[in-house]
Amino acid sequence: MSQQHTTQDWRAMDAAHHLHPFSDTKGLNAQGARVITHADGIYLWDSEGNKITDGMAGLWCVNIGYGRKDLPEVAKRQMEELAYYNTFFKTTHPKVAELSALLASVAPDGFEHVFYTNSGSESVDTMIRMVRHYWSSVGKPEKKVLIGRWNGYHGSTIGGASLGGMSYMHEQGDLPIPGIAHVEQPWYYKHGKDLTPEEFGIQAAQWIEAKILEVGADKVAAFVGEPVQGAGGVIIPPSTYWPEVERICRKYDVLLVADEVICGFGRTGEWFGQTHFGFKPDMFTTAKGLSSGYLPIGAVFVGERVARGLIEEGGDFNHGFTYSGHPVCAAVAHANVAALRDEGIVERVKNATGPYMQQRWREVFGQFAHVDDVRGVGLIQAFTLVKNKATRELFDNWGEAGTQCRDIFFKHNLIMRACGDHIVCAPPLVITKAEIDAMLETAVACLREFEQLVA
Ligand code: PLP
Repeated sequence: MSQQHTTQDWRAMDAAHHLHPFSDTKGLNAQGARVITHADGIYLWDSEGNKITDGMAGLWCVNIGYGRKDLPEVAKRQMEELAYYNTFFKTTHPKVAELSALLASVAPDGFEHVFYTNSGSESVDTMIRMVRHYWSSVGKPEKKVLIGRWNGYHGSTIGGASLGGMSYMHEQGDLPIPGIAHVEQPWYYKHGKDLTPEEFGIQAAQWIEAKILEVGADKVAAFVGEPVQGAGGVIIPPSTYWPEVERICRKYDVLLVADEVICGFGRTGEWFGQTHFGFKPDMFTTAKGLSSGYLPIGAVFVGERVARGLIEEGGDFNHGFTYSGHPVCAAVAHANVAALRDEGIVERVKNATGPYMQQRWREVFGQFAHVDDVRGVGLIQAFTLVKNKATRELFDNWGEAGTQCRDIFFKHNLIMRACGDHIVCAPPLVITKAEIDAMLETAVACLREFEQLVA
């Protein structure tokens, strides 16, 4: 930690020179950014000495928790041995080869190949180019359209933001690009009406079928969705949804792609969300939990069918990044994934902390007058702030109540995120039951404060 500067100095430098992502710089500068200086386990500390519980694992990424001593050691050793070399032009290096084999061993059956990127957004853009290149390579170049979902999030690059369904992102920079279509999200609470969740799951999947028929099956390359929509507010589809989506994709020969950037590496209690929801995609995108955020790295997992097409028919794939499979990132990702496996962290989410969180989350938040649709799986959960529970009426000005509530959490040194009026939580996967209890106790006090505010 730098000793010679004060919080005020950092705020001033930041305000003068730093443009923040997803921020209104003018508003932020007036307020001054919170300066996070160090972290351990599930806790962060700011430059004013406050200890903060990180209920969001950074940006849903620090699966293994902060402050590991082994990962920096691995990075140091790798930097000394081979700080950089690329994987273009017929070269590889030991760590990227070892990581690839390890990833194939933790992936569901049939995923033997990975392509490396530096982020989730790059994984998504890579997937878009790969899907289109696959169809061209196997003689169907007209299959180009990718279908995503409204309120889905697939990153901030031009491809990722286009495929995502965040209209406030489309409004900036003339998005989406051509060849992208969207369908409604499987949000039972809002769209389910008189249907059972199971009936609604089938109906929501059939919106995809209708879109495929509208575009023309011969033009549709892929359907892409997050197993659980994360940034959209932790939208968890009914159990019937994904199997029906898979059936529809097979029927029309449309590739099925899971965006596992949040769900991957243990978040749902399985290694990948697709296993929890019982479907088998052709490809899936990852990042975040792959290195638990210790260094930037992403990977696109390519299933047998697409890999065979690309390898046998595709020739050169004219795509890649200077840092694809960066040796230091690969070494750290390898150590991270091995630790998630060898320390039983994913297993613990499935059998212990995940079920405990889900039970407690429902118990403590079910009691509030303005909290409804209390939901979650593994260690990803949410609830929605509503005006009237009996009629399912949402608050006016979507997002206003959420921001108010999030700010109360923040004031009490607890980080949870507001996605509109959904309050979401996705802590490091190493959180203990005692830490869950303490976090929820604070959250309950915050909710009481929020309900007084809106009473
Ligand atoms: N896909 C999903 C499902 C995500 O949640 C995110 C980020 O939150 C991304 C892609 C983009 O990842 P990144 O921010 O690493 O580019």
